[in-house]
Amino acid sequence: MKITFYGIVQGVGFRPAAYRVAKQLGLNGFVQNNGSNVEVHIDGDPDVFISRLRQELPSLARIDRSEIEDAEEELEPFRIAESSDGRRVSLIPVDNAICDACLRDFHDPGDHRYRYPFANCTECGARFTVIKDVPFDRARTAMDEFPMCGDCLSEYSSPDDRRFHAQTISSPRCGPRYSLYDRTGTPIRSMDPFETFARKIESGMVGVLKGWGGMHIVGSFESAKRLRKIYRRGEKPYAVMMRDIETARKFAAIDPEEERLLTSPQRPIVLIRKREEVKEALSDVSPGLRNIGIMLPYSGAHHLLFEHLYEDGVIMTSANPPGEPMIIDNLRAFELRLDCYLLHNRKIIHRCDDSVIRVNGGQRAFLRRSRGFVPTPIPLNHSSSVIAVGAQWDVTGSISRNGELFLTQYIGETDKYPTLQFLESAIRHLQRLLGVEKIEAIAADRHPRYSTKIVAKKLAEECGCEMVETQHYHAHAASLMIDRGLSETGIFLTWDGTGYGDDGSSWGGETLDADFSRYSRVASLRKIPLLGGDRAALDIRRIVAAMKLMLNREIDGLSDWEIEVFSKMLPRSSRTSSMGRVLDALSCTLGVCCKRSYEGEPAIKLESLLETGKPTHRFDVRTESAEGLEVIDTLDLFDQLFELNLDGEAERADIARSFVESLVNEAGRIACDIALKRGHSYIGFCGGVSYNGVITEILRDCVEDRNLAFYTHNAIPSGDGGISAGQNAIVGRKVAGKG
Ligand SMILES: [Zn+2]
Ligand SMILES: [Zn+2]
Repeated sequence: MKITFYGIVQGVGFRPAAYRVAKQLGLNGFVQNNGSNVEVHIDGDPDVFISRLRQELPSLARIDRSEIEDAEEELEPFRIAESSDGRRVSLIPVDNAICDACLRDFHDPGDHRYRYPFANCTECGARFTVIKDVPFDRARTAMDEFPMCGDCLSEYSSPDDRRFHAQTISSPRCGPRYSLYDRTGTPIRSMDPFETFARKIESGMVGVLKGWGGMHIVGSFESAKRLRKIYRRGEKPYAVMMRDIETARKFAAIDPEEERLLTSPQRPIVLIRKREEVKEALSDVSPGLRNIGIMLPYSGAHHLLFEHLYEDGVIMTSANPPGEPMIIDNLRAFELRLDCYLLHNRKIIHRCDDSVIRVNGGQRAFLRRSRGFVPTPIPLNHSSSVIAVGAQWDVTGSISRNGELFLTQYIGETDKYPTLQFLESAIRHLQRLLGVEKIEAIAADRHPRYSTKIVAKKLAEECGCEMVETQHYHAHAASLMIDRGLSETGIFLTWDGTGYGDDGSSWGGETLDADFSRYSRVASLRKIPLLGGDRAALDIRRIVAAMKLMLNREIDGLSDWEIEVFSKMLPRSSRTSSMGRVLDALSCTLGVCCKRSYEGEPAIKLESLLETGKPTHRFDVRTESAEGLEVIDTLDLFDQLFELNLDGEAERADIARSFVESLVNEAGRIACDIALKRGHSYIGFCGGVSYNGVITEILRDCVEDRNLAFYTHNAIPSGDGGISAGQNAIVGRKVAGKG
């Protein structure tokens, strides 16, 4: 009998488990990796075998399905056979935090992996980031340069050992090593590089620590200001790594779902509300924000660092030149010119940034879906093989195969060439691992100047297939449909900072009536001018000034000369219906934030005001209807806002809340009216603005009051990181002839 297992069956201890079950049942035969699935040949009842195996399945393994075939064959006593190259249809294991059993070895002075930074087993460690090719065997990983010593080999070969057939294990005798370097890249001799590194960090130095899928910049909380200067990073927040969950609690109010995420094997960065008492201590780490991004140690190296640190936590942020992908190469790291470097000599095959999640109303929202989650597939609406390249900011790519969607790790902002190259290589690598040979179409954004199109065109030429363009907000809606398993037509509020509109202008406050095959715009926001185009998105005073000019209002804070220049620019300036820009302008008007140093900053900083404020003020919302499009007059809302006295802090919070509630409720009302009139059963909310917890809750209440279902993202980022999922869904159906 031959049984083929599909699912997460490689690199997770599946074959050893099969071996143990076969031995218990006294069967002859063999188990082997075949492509990316696993084949078992036995001379007994396959159903008994499968049910026993399910009971003994390693925690990370998952059987999606199994196929049983008759096979006439002579079988010898059960063994684990060499891999054969077959079709690649199963899953590639993700990087998982060091497990409890390995952590016990790590802390046990009698164990040969005592304080060993690369301690791992079948259940844990770097996997996606070290795999060159499938089947997942040591020879096809970055560990091929480190032949196992006798100790490791005996664990690897012993069926009763929990490291039996663990492909990437090593020990201090045979494995990679960390070395310490100074600013210039010269090795620093040290008995204990981790201890020396820890002392340097505590003395205020800033260093680089190489990890599994990339490198982190490490510094004490006090070094935040200096680091910010070196990096010209504006006010962009840093993530921190805390010693453990108890320590993290001193800094942040962690709810049960946040704790579950923080301590999960994926160990993402979780954005959690800072405690009032420590706001001062963290003020340079995440300036002006209610949340702090926290993660817990996930590798032996992190635990070793904390063994030597006295601090509760350290800044841990991706080590990358501004706007470029994270550095993975040792020599390139020295170009960062930081104080010291703690690097190991194992190659990083696949760059993978930390994942970032926040919890909104008990539900997780991915800001970045990367380490720990990639390349776990997401069920899809079509079975075509399509590659999608995303939009321009916060990019991920995607590839589909047999009804499953695989998103790449976080890529970044593709306006810089190295990031664009990273997108291309990440897609190619995923394609190779998945063994998708025939690509049927390449999906890209309709924007004529997005650089991701360069990659799309190149891939389309190579594959000999078509490049198909999708509308930005249609892709957002389709992404949400995939995420929540929706197939019916719905109404979608797709709000973000910017996206290419069908009229050639920048959109971002759109409500669509959509399904996978079509969309129509049913509501939007009145367009507001962007004086100087993109510069207005960085200098929000320009948006506010433009609106005041349109309203013939007095403008304070600008010189007469600036006002004159702006007046001349106004008639020619581009306009946007973006909700992101409306929130930016509100933030600036209320004195919260007028200069943007990172995407979404003014709106994010507005959130704490929105949370404390009460809807005490009355804003009248005017909506005009023209040719089937409802347009909310945001300019008129600002006209009412400019009338108000904005002096007191509490007053400003109430005004912020009132403004947003009025606007969001009106948009929600319009969406619900249309849904009910057209017989749709649900409202979806997506795009970067949906990360805002307050706005999400206002909309949810508004929609549920009308007895409609309300959906937000869960497994796919709701910002532009989810665009490649929607593109794939739309184009995949099209090539399958269903859309
Ligand atoms: Zn382990
Ligand atoms: Zn060894």
